Amino acid sequence: MNWPCTHCKKPLGQHDGSHDYVPLIPKFALSLYAPWNYAILRLGKDVENRSRGFIQCMRQEMRGGGWFWLHSSKGPARKAFDSELLAMCQTAIRAGSPAFPTLTTRQLVNHWRGHIVGIANYTSHIDSWLGTPSPWWVPGQAGLRLGERYELPKPIPAKGAQGFWSINDETKWRLAGVLTEAA
Ligand SMILES: [Zn+2]
Repeated sequence: MNWPCTHCKKPLGQHDGSHDYVPLIPKFALSLYAPWNYAILRLGKDVENRSRGFIQCMRQEMRGGGWFWLHSSKGPARKAFDSELLAMCQTAIRAGSPAFPTLTTRQLVNHWRGHIVGIANYTSHIDSWLGTPSPWWVPGQAGLRLGERYELPKPIPAKGAQGFWSINDETKWRLAGVLTEAA
């Protein structure tokens, strides 16, 4: 399993043994529609588009970047879900992503709904008027620039919320359990 250590942020495979490896368990989570988590974890999506207001609030809470959980919300309903998936595929093709989404992708992404599926490292924010060259950036939007990301060995069910939300203790132990088991 490839997952960063809470102390040195090095993935298990590169861990040097100067201290005990403890899997990283971030405090905050962000709920997204499932296709966008797939794009972040598997297709190289390196921007999370958000409103300017959201980024301003978030910068106060997260101060200088940090790791957060990627949670796939239960919504939207089937028709809107398919159009989100289509939008993801179109951007992935434009971005020249190596993986082309298939029917299996649709089933997997659908299964992710209502689960925490991975983590991402927010490295800096994007100004709406400056933007970023990434094909995943939506012009006019502010956003989070994403660095490293890791997919959980097994999705863990959790209820989502608006904005950044803190995972509860039960979810925390379930996440720690699945990561310890896989390490
Ligand atoms: Zn370490």
